[in-house]
Amino acid sequence: MTEPFLPPEAVQREFQHRRRAIQSLAVIAALTATAIVSLLFLDVLNTRVAVPALLVGFSYAVWVNMRLWRCPACGAHLGKLYLGLNGPKHCPNCGVRLVNGDPDDT
Ligand SMILES: [Zn+2]
Repeated sequence: MTEPFLPPEAVQREFQHRRRAIQSLAVIAALTATAIVSLLFLDVLNTRVAVPALLVGFSYAVWVNMRLWRCPACGAHLGKLYLGLNGPKHCPNCGVRLVNGDPDDT
């Protein structure tokens, strides 16, 4: 699927939006998983509830990654997640710059 042409500023703005959404979801997922495991060890939850909840959460995280972690310009998956870091700076597929900054900075 080919994405419609977007100007560089729109690509960078959309990439920043997607990365913030993924970072927020990662924090929520980590806190939720920690709470579930803690409740499991405190015997508040049993494994019949905790394990499916963790599997659903993990599956949702994979789905979000596959849907959101894509180049806004060409739609290609961006590969490894760089949570909290300033990368990737370019799309590995089409080469469009994804972050603001010095164009010569790689
Ligand atoms: Zn691309």
